[in-house]
Amino acid sequence: MTDPAHPAPSGSAWAAVTSALRASRRVLLVLHVRPDGDSIGCSLAVARGLRAIGKQAVVVSPDPIPANLAFLDPDRECVAPDKAAGPFDVALFLDCADLERIGTARTLLGEIPVVINIDHHRSNECYGTVNYVDPDAAACGEVALRLCDALSVPVDARAATALFAALATDTGGFRYGATTAVTLAMASRLRAAGADLALVGHEVWDSRSAGSLRLLAVALNSLGTDGELAWVSLRASDLASSADPGDSEGLVDYPRSLRGVEVAALFAADQPGRVRVSLRSNRRVDVSRLAQAFGGGGHARAAGCTVEGDLETVRNHVLDAARAALQPEGLS
Ligand code: 5GP
Ligand code: MN
Repeated sequence: MTDPAHPAPSGSAWAAVTSALRASRRVLLVLHVRPDGDSIGCSLAVARGLRAIGKQAVVVSPDPIPANLAFLDPDRECVAPDKAAGPFDVALFLDCADLERIGTARTLLGEIPVVINIDHHRSNECYGTVNYVDPDAAACGEVALRLCDALSVPVDARAATALFAALATDTGGFRYGATTAVTLAMASRLRAAGADLALVGHEVWDSRSAGSLRLLAVALNSLGTDGELAWVSLRASDLASSADPGDSEGLVDYPRSLRGVEVAALFAADQPGRVRVSLRSNRRVDVSRLAQAFGGGGHARAAGCTVEGDLETVRNHVLDAARAALQPEGLS
């Protein structure tokens, strides 16, 4: 599985990652806030692999696992940070660009001597004692699979399903431009290892709750457009009626799918006085730079931030910045 454009990991950072994990006894794996398929899939697969080579591994999640990803954790092993009984000798972060993305799990870190940060976000802040970031990986799942190989841990059917879900979700079902020949070769290998593609496809994309369908209706009714810009908004009262925090996942893809749109946004007033903003672009604008201007981050085509303020004020600010980015001399 070689690709000159995307070589397998090597170098001192990778050697430091693998030797720290080989030497570890109890590893704490930490998901990011509002965990997605990449975060959950990577950590559960690697935790499983570590156990297979005699390590203890505990996975903590600062937020609940969204209902449509619960199938990845059939044993309900992802626990809240206050349920993780230390001590741990290594903390392992997969898919976490910065420490703010780990929310309440941050409190666990003070006493863990080795912090391994493995990621694929270009904006990663290298907060670990050991850092390995591959911005050419379409999903952190690609690096996680290479980690399993480097540690000679088996990838059984359950781990293969988790890693396949990581690849499939971060690439929008292998549709986004970040998908490479390596991504597809890895997906093929995971399928051969027993990944349940139908389960992933059904659970992730074809099993919505009634709440999420209602939220979709509200979001579509809120559609705003301005040239190459399109957005949807969810008020606090819209979100209060939705049962699962994952129900707004994917809604930003609707304004993004509007023909002629380059930048799409979802504004969700999920807590009093603050708005979650999801940003997407189709071809040219680097929305991670847009998100960074508001304290967030992400990738060129998918990014996000949380901004203090009421829905209308935040929306106006972000849309103004997006309009500037859409100018020929703007962020791209
Ligand atoms: P989403 O819009 O699905 O919440 O996030 C899209 C992508 O943007 C995520 O995969 C993540 O990489 C990034 N992202 C979202 N919110 C934040 C944030 O607050 N900070 C950072 N650094 N990245 C974010
Ligand atoms: Mn990811």
